[in-house]
Amino acid sequence: MKIRIDHIKNKPYELAVDEPVENFPVLLQMQADGECVFRGNVAAEVAVEREFDHLRATGRVQVPVEFVCGRCLATYQSVIDSSFRIIFRKESARQSSVEDETELCDEDLIASTYDGDEIDLTHELEEQVALGIPYKPLCGEGCQGLCPECGADLNVSPCSCSRVPVNLKFSALKDFKVSR
Ligand SMILES: [Zn+2]
Ligand SMILES: [Zn+2]
Repeated sequence: MKIRIDHIKNKPYELAVDEPVENFPVLLQMQADGECVFRGNVAAEVAVEREFDHLRATGRVQVPVEFVCGRCLATYQSVIDSSFRIIFRKESARQSSVEDETELCDEDLIASTYDGDEIDLTHELEEQVALGIPYKPLCGEGCQGLCPECGADLNVSPCSCSRVPVNLKFSALKDFKVSR
């Protein structure tokens, strides 16, 4: 998704996109690597405005995703929903002064560059989605996972294996000491 610079006048230039994952190479690669399965288009709303010597893009990107839980191996649906702010500077102005650098110290602000008379948001959007993909997906915070003995899904029902958590023994010992 490209935006021609001369379309950006005094007020923010707004656009909405809804594109298939096939248009985003980084996301296709993640899917090929088995990290997740994208279940719909990448939808984004972006407003681009002029600010000092650069362009500021503010927006939000969303895409439905299917993950495999890292604990119980169940597949579950989720939505990557990420808001972003990106500063685009002209490529030739990249070696900018120290003054400009300090201005960009803002933590969640991403700095990028553009060349010619248009900016391309494709890569920035896929980077935003990629950042939202968890390293170890979990179907829920309280997922019990699978029994290491019999492989039963402990979210469904407890199994009959005797599994006394090691830290339970230690806490009993600690209580004993305290009571003395
Ligand atoms: Zn799980
Ligand atoms: Zn078991």
